[in-house]
Amino acid sequence: MSVTLADILTARRRIQGTAVRTPLVPSPHLSRLAGHDFLLKLEIGQPTGAFKLRGATNAVFGLPEGVSGVTCCSTGNHGRGVAYAARDRGLRAVVCMSELVPQAKIDGIKALGAEVKIGGRSQDEAQIEARRLCEEEGLVEIPPFDDGRVVAGQGTIGLELMEDRPDLDMVLVPLSGGGLAAGIAFAVKTISPKTRLIGVSMDRGAAMHASLAAGHPVEVEEVASLADSLGGGIGLDNKLTFDLCRQYLDDTILVTEDEIYRAMQTLYFEDRLVAEGACVVGIAALQAGKLPVPRGPLATIITGRSVDMDVFTRIVTGRDVTLGNLTLQGQPYAA
Ligand SMILES: *Cc1c(COP(=O)(O)O)cnc(C)c1O
Repeated sequence: MSVTLADILTARRRIQGTAVRTPLVPSPHLSRLAGHDFLLKLEIGQPTGAFKLRGATNAVFGLPEGVSGVTCCSTGNHGRGVAYAARDRGLRAVVCMSELVPQAKIDGIKALGAEVKIGGRSQDEAQIEARRLCEEEGLVEIPPFDDGRVVAGQGTIGLELMEDRPDLDMVLVPLSGGGLAAGIAFAVKTISPKTRLIGVSMDRGAAMHASLAAGHPVEVEEVASLADSLGGGIGLDNKLTFDLCRQYLDDTILVTEDEIYRAMQTLYFEDRLVAEGACVVGIAALQAGKLPVPRGPLATIITGRSVDMDVFTRIVTGRDVTLGNLTLQGQPYAA
């Protein structure tokens, strides 16, 4: 499995009309802090609220004629992307989930026109149900990150970044399974080899970071995080994103939950944006002094806005937030 620039150009044509070309806007506050332009790629402007619509649309629209429908197990941004893209192409979509998934998430997926199949008490059992649908009903499973069409779809963000700001010194990419980072890093490095690509994750349960350090895919314990969209593994049988991240990322950086808390406040008070914790890890790394010294403009991807509004309100009002066995001490925002 591999990805080429031609695949990403094809993806751009395919997703046009479903996913939008998002703006790249300057953050005056973060630019002052960085000493260079600091730019925000606003993927929260996608119709599903997250960039995953790009990869999902490229995968769904790339399927041959005659496919009876698609399925996936994600209850988060990928599930929303698959549901939206399938409806746009007039295909049946079935999202498999465990019975522990909250009703609000089920309603959100159904509102996008997808069927929901509740099976079992874990994500693994939901996965088995998806496999069964593929075998018995001829549905095609759309993977969340480890897939060439998905990576090429996310890579369209890299093309747009280079068109808007070919002078970027650094791109900070929120990193989980690595579909986003692999696609952007491949596109940007191919066009501009001198631009530095940094993957950023939370320090608890960063599967790609641990895998790159080990030299092969490893499992990490999954714990609650403000950056919940960055949780989960990369797959021990990872076929694509591990190799691409190893080849095209210059570095990976980890940030703490306290640093994410503060960066969510910064993005809200300074840039007036409502976004999930996964978006702000690059901002958190800048504020914590963890980035290499910038030599020119920087950009980060504001990846999604699927944030729990109760948690968000607690953070912007400076209250404590409890994540499993960790309680973050609240503090009002101060620039
Ligand atoms: C999925 C996701 C990511 C990470 O993308 P990967 O391709 O899994 O690395 C980042 N932010 C948000 C909001 C996401 O939904």
